[in-house]
Amino acid sequence: MTDSGKHNAGWQLTTMMNRRDFVTKGLGLAASLSATPLVGAEASKSPQKFNIAIIGAGLLGSAAARHLTQVTDDVALIGPGEPANRKTHTGVFASHYDASRLIRVVDPDLVWATLAKRSLSRHREIERESGIKFRHDIGYMMVTPGGLGKDWFNLPAMREVADDLQVDIEDLDDGALKQRFPYLSFTPGSSAVLQEDDAGYLDPRRLIEAQHQISIAQGASVIRDVVVDLRSRAGHVEVRTKSGSRIRANRVLLATGAYTNASGLLQHRLQMYIRAAMIMASEVAPAMNVKYPATLYAKTDGAEDFWGLLMPPITYDDGRSYIKTMDGYYGERPLEGFDQLGAWSRSNGHEEHHEVLRRALREVFPSVEVLSREFQPCLIADTASRYPYIDMIDERLGIVVGGNGKSGKSCDEIGRLAADMIHNAGWASSLPQSLFSARFS
Ligand SMILES: Cc1cc2nc3c(=O)[nH]c(=O)nc-3n(C[C@H](O)[C@H](O)[C@H](O)COP(=O)(O)OP(=O)(O)OC[C@H]3O[C@@H](n4cnc5c(N)ncnc54)[C@H](O)[C@@H]3O)c2cc1C
Repeated sequence: MTDSGKHNAGWQLTTMMNRRDFVTKGLGLAASLSATPLVGAEASKSPQKFNIAIIGAGLLGSAAARHLTQVTDDVALIGPGEPANRKTHTGVFASHYDASRLIRVVDPDLVWATLAKRSLSRHREIERESGIKFRHDIGYMMVTPGGLGKDWFNLPAMREVADDLQVDIEDLDDGALKQRFPYLSFTPGSSAVLQEDDAGYLDPRRLIEAQHQISIAQGASVIRDVVVDLRSRAGHVEVRTKSGSRIRANRVLLATGAYTNASGLLQHRLQMYIRAAMIMASEVAPAMNVKYPATLYAKTDGAEDFWGLLMPPITYDDGRSYIKTMDGYYGERPLEGFDQLGAWSRSNGHEEHHEVLRRALREVFPSVEVLSREFQPCLIADTASRYPYIDMIDERLGIVVGGNGKSGKSCDEIGRLAADMIHNAGWASSLPQSLFSARFS
């Protein structure tokens, strides 16, 4: 438990406005609402009762559900599925509507590397139990000119972490890069770190499906609904959903990702910054026979410096092959509020930055023939600590939010920590709990 408990007193005006905003705009209700929104209250019969309700069925909430259902009964996982049409959807969006998330253990940050290593170690077991394949070990490579780089690209720190966690990595110099990947054009003088084992990508949709299947088999109820109200009462937490259901739980774990502040379900705003990330999916011929690892690279000899991601061709659910690229351009400022998150998620991304991604792909992969292209918006939920917030807000309400762009690979361990916290008020890790303390604005 942290000092976050002190934030529990009384509703503030801003929170009320957020909540109203969310309820009226998010749910398409008429604008007039009383101070206490009772959404669909007429429809509510006696409440469904659970021991623990998890709100948000994304990567973190679904992982927590699997871990929780291993140790307790009466778990509900509440959250909507993916919108059928993102261009017309007016409800909440998620950060995982995609076919690939890069996975690797090596990271310049020992905490993130540890979370990833522990998560990856359970993937095969999840695949086996669910019968759903979501992981593809094609290796990971990071390429920087002259071995330079900071933040995500800090090569010396990454080497140190690889040593600490005993991860096998291979150093490649300029010559070795050219020899192994002759069709890729990196800045002359580049060097790379390659993690061949325990690295590549996972399909986040399939991982979620696998977590759900196992959770359901272990007794979870998955409820496809949006939570619009959450109140701690004496002895339980009361949850109301968009469809008018009432749910009563002994404890609640909030895993609502980028929408955590926008939904106003917490009494105070967390220090979270929602970044408007953009993916470029470039369709290539299915027969294109190139193999390279999931790659982060920096290129400094092109028209302008580029620091970003390059995935190899991957076959998507539509049967076509795409190369995914993206970089760290998030527009001018973080997104705020339900309207901005929705407008961004329905858009074509940063139009002013399309050409940068197009050119970056041409420069690093000069011979690639692109058949079609799509720019897809996505939401990255950063925290002030740069780690997820895994914390109790009061004795019945916990949170696990703030993926910081790195929780695809690390979600299973983050979910495990949150499950133990909400179930036992415990902390099942050698990583200090204080790293994951919530911070409020
Ligand atoms: C473009 C992009 C690329 C990325 N690449 C990588 C990568 O290569 N590797 C990596 O490790 N990570 C990557 N990430 C990060 C990773 O996808 C996120 O860290 C992860 O999805 C966070 O999980 P989450 O459960 O917090 O959020 P989400 O997966 O977004 O889940 C939150 C869920 O909460 C639900 N929700 C919201 N409000 C409510 C409500 N009121 N009631 C009920 N449910 C609600 C939403 O519907 C959603 O399903 C990337 C992210 C983006 C955007």
